[in-house]
Amino acid sequence: MPELVFFSGTMDCGKSTLALQIEHNRSARGLAGMIFTRDDRAGEGKLSSRLGLVTDAVEVEDGQDLYAYLVDHLSQGGRADYVIADEAQFLAPGQIDQLARVVDDLGLDVFAFGITTDFRSKLFPGSQRLVELADRIEVLQVEALCWCGARATHNARTVGGEMVVEGAQVVVGDVNQSAGEVGYEVLCRRHHRRRMTAASAHAAALSPDVLPVPSS
Ligand SMILES: [Zn+2]
Repeated sequence: MPELVFFSGTMDCGKSTLALQIEHNRSARGLAGMIFTRDDRAGEGKLSSRLGLVTDAVEVEDGQDLYAYLVDHLSQGGRADYVIADEAQFLAPGQIDQLARVVDDLGLDVFAFGITTDFRSKLFPGSQRLVELADRIEVLQVEALCWCGARATHNARTVGGEMVVEGAQVVVGDVNQSAGEVGYEVLCRRHHRRRMTAASAHAAALSPDVLPVPSS
């Protein structure tokens, strides 16, 4: 039975690497994939992983009907044996419904990869719809770690290393930002709640306020 599978996790948990691995394994068996992505770090029409692998993909537009796109592709003699949707958190809920229809009406497996929650720890609309519709949800086993060593379960947005909790849901940034720029960092829930990033923890450790006071 074809399935809609949602591979979820934090940033940096290896989602895109797994997407590329699935693509590799299936194309090695002679299968052809349709790969959708949106706002990949490598630029439009690319699916890339932090480990340096990259492949071409279809950049999803606002309002694009993914089911109709597949039907057009197939009716023009194109092949698609399965579908990969990376950065699925950026898809609209209606586009997730279209992916479910691809599974049910076209009989194709759809593998969606996405971050579950945003920097405020709220569900992305696309991820919420995937949780509602997926046949199966896989939480990725390559766990990202907080600076404290605990399992990182939350995504933080930073500006100059300081965690911020207000702003638009989608702002382009990367984990390798320079000072003053928007960046992202994965944290455990405890440090996400305390808004303590690696930079602010380092600053606090250097502050004389927290040095032990010698007893006289
Ligand atoms: Zn932590």
